[in-house]
Amino acid sequence: MGDNASLNDFLGGESSEQSEAATTYAWDGAGAACAACDETVERRWQQDGDLVCIECKDWEQP
Ligand SMILES: [Zn+2]
Repeated sequence: MGDNASLNDFLGGESSEQSEAATTYAWDGAGAACAACDETVERRWQQDGDLVCIECKDWEQP
């Protein structure tokens, strides 16, 4: 029974790490156009509902 308790503790600990994954990006191996500058890039980040390249992403935005 002691093993079950430790397993539950392990699974419950995952949620505390989600605050570290606030930056959401999309990856397209074929490349996709940035919504701001139209440059074709593999990785884009969400900003104001659009997907923009790393150059256009405003990292200062909360
Ligand atoms: Zn861009």
